[in-house]
Amino acid sequence: HVDHQTRLARLEIEHARRERAIAETAEAAIMQKNQLLEQRLREVERLQESLRELANRDALTGLYNRRFLGEALPGLVSMAARRGDRIVVILIDLDHFKQINDVYGHQMGDFVLEGFADLVRDAFRAHDLCCRYGGEEFCVVMADTDDIAAHERVEELQERLGERRFTSGDKELTRVGFSAGIVTFKADPRMDLDVVFRRADQALYASKNAGRRQISALELA
Ligand code: GH3
Ligand code: MG
Ligand code: MG
Repeated sequence: HVDHQTRLARLEIEHARRERAIAETAEAAIMQKNQLLEQRLREVERLQESLRELANRDALTGLYNRRFLGEALPGLVSMAARRGDRIVVILIDLDHFKQINDVYGHQMGDFVLEGFADLVRDAFRAHDLCCRYGGEEFCVVMADTDDIAAHERVEELQERLGERRFTSGDKELTRVGFSAGIVTFKADPRMDLDVVFRRADQALYASKNAGRRQISALELA
């Protein structure tokens, strides 16, 4: 009887061991699946992030697009308002750009846009909002700066662009210029941003009317 009981007990132990081994294998498989799922999740998150970046950027120049500017501006204004900063909006339009396309070809036009975007990226800091606003129009929004510093920055940009040599095939182009309008205002979340951009446009057109290659600045209250 004792022998029988001992054999039964051994069988039970053996059975329990096997059950545990099966459970452990299953657990290991689940853990592996979990790891795989987490990895996939991180991949999807990375993909979403790069899609967001793509949607916010202009394909030719890599600068932010106008849609993103509209999205980001209210947040930038309220942050600047909390710090009591002024905001500078700079509108830039390349001069006689249609002529560049007509005389040197559309590819040269594209090279100028790309090259100018590089200069813009160099001229401003990472937290300045640099956008391609339209075809050959650009917009930069700066916080925590003053109008004199911004004006100097735009003048420097003008010089750099003028010095830059663009080539397309056997054609060469230098002395590209732009006109700019700068509007400065004390950050206030209640500020009507359409008014700000209308005034910046007016300043830009004052530069065009004054013969191009000019920078006009005005201050809002
Ligand atoms: P202004 O000095 O008055 O600004 O004259 P402009 O010739 O620069 O201005 P206009 O608005 O007459 O012409 C802008 C041109 O920009 C017309 C359009 O074909 C060209 N353009 C817009 N987007 C692109 C682009 O992505 N690539 C190229 N190559 N040209 C573009
Ligand atoms: Mg234009
Ligand atoms: Mg133009």
